[in-house]
Amino acid sequence: MTSCTNSEPVTVHVAFLPSAGMGHLNPCLRTAEQFLRHGCKVTLITPKPTVSLAESNLINRFCSSFPSSQLNQVDLNLIDVDPTQVNTNDPFWLHFETIRQSLQYHLPTILSSLSSPPLSAFIYDVSLISPLVPITEKLCFPSYIYFIAPARMFSFFAHLSVLSEKNPGVKPSSFIGGVVEIPGIAPIPRSSVPPLLLEPNSLFESIFMEDSPKLKKLSGIFINSFEELEPEALAALNNGRVVPGLPPVYPIGPLVPCEFEKVRSSPKTNSSTILKWLDGQPAGSVVYVCLGNRTQTRREQIKDMAQGLISCGYKFLWVVKLKIVDREDQEEELDDVLGNEVMKQVNEKGMAVKTWVDQMEILGHPSVGGFVNHGGWNSLVEGVWHGKPILSWAHDGDQKIASEVVKMNGVGIWPQVWGWGARDDVVKGEEIARAINEMMSNESLRNKAREMKEAARKAAGVGGSCEVIIKRQIEEWKKRI
Ligand code: UDP
Ligand code: UDP
Repeated sequence: MTSCTNSEPVTVHVAFLPSAGMGHLNPCLRTAEQFLRHGCKVTLITPKPTVSLAESNLINRFCSSFPSSQLNQVDLNLIDVDPTQVNTNDPFWLHFETIRQSLQYHLPTILSSLSSPPLSAFIYDVSLISPLVPITEKLCFPSYIYFIAPARMFSFFAHLSVLSEKNPGVKPSSFIGGVVEIPGIAPIPRSSVPPLLLEPNSLFESIFMEDSPKLKKLSGIFINSFEELEPEALAALNNGRVVPGLPPVYPIGPLVPCEFEKVRSSPKTNSSTILKWLDGQPAGSVVYVCLGNRTQTRREQIKDMAQGLISCGYKFLWVVKLKIVDREDQEEELDDVLGNEVMKQVNEKGMAVKTWVDQMEILGHPSVGGFVNHGGWNSLVEGVWHGKPILSWAHDGDQKIASEVVKMNGVGIWPQVWGWGARDDVVKGEEIARAINEMMSNESLRNKAREMKEAARKAAGVGGSCEVIIKRQIEEWKKRI
């Protein structure tokens, strides 16, 4: 690393590399914004093309929100990967693999060329560890990941290396028993483990098993969580109980909405129509339903979903996704799927949209009284930020582990008997209506949500834990310049 003379201003330069999907991009850009706000120069390396339109729109908004003297953007061109050679049918996981395989060709040159000022640190997505470790070791600068899920999930991911070391050559489907016992963490039942990890030779399994043992090679982990939300897991991670010798885990959450994320009103986004409709509803009366950026509601589930909402007794705002990738979601209308009669009732009792919405704006609206979500961690933290009671309906991946966090905190309910929304039996409309009623009428849930909102605001406020960690980190990097 070159050193500065005393007369030169010391600027810390941090590079960020996200991976596919809004659940990965949002925390990346929100973390980058924290460093920009504290005077760092940021280089955003963007894998091109993106899977979804939502991602490319957000990257454009982010890049046009900061001067080029502070924010530098570099494209990372991806190689062609034959999808039949990759063991996944999930377009986002295929993209993770494509990015992983592309890194060795272009990234070393990109990173070495970032010289004004020289790079102080590199922060990249959790899904890119194995291909990046040899590159960053060679280039000799501190590298970190940002983790997109709860600290409880990170404990599980990190502890996998310990379990696999004790069971050499054995697959997780065999060495994971009825419950996963991790020191300092409430046990994780096998039924909450991401299903694809228990599927031998899935891409999910191979990436997890390859990456978990390499965590010790990082300089640290940034995570969208905070002390009051996950005291147990954060303590167990940082006092070496989960994995001895693990690098520090920095809880910089809650990662809060940023100015650049605001979706400008346009007929396409529907934003002003939604807000106008919400403005007309009494405070706390509307159920907001959104299952994230890449969770489709299954065809066999959608009618019961509609029936549950129509009969729950509350007004609702339902963001419907019929396809995994948003670019394909324009091909079909909801009327075609639900039929005219059900659609008429949906429109009488609430509002259904098939467009990208500004979730933070909606959650912050006073008429929203509860949030039905799929257990996506970004969304859950956003619900907590706005103090809204949550009904968490885990669909896949880490979403049961995230739902456990919400349930343990008393800010949400999680109907465990519903199983995996993407895999198990259809949940009946009456069941959905009953659970919504429980969420909307439960006073203790509301009080807890309010308390956690206050803790969240404190953590993200001036002098809060997030600012303290970011400033300390910047000072540490400055010492190396
Ligand atoms: N989101 C949004 N509008 C939408 C759908 C999703 O703003 O119409 C945002 C949401 O606020 C969250 C992210 O997309 O920040 C989804 O991430 P999450 O971890 O909740 O779930 P995922 O989509 O990754 O499963
Ligand atoms: N994950 C991980 N390593 C990876 C990719 C994902 O630990 O290489 C974790 C991620 O943090 C999350 C879970 O796996 O807890 C599910 O990831 P996915 O990308 O499916 O989440 P989504 O995009 O739906 O939010």
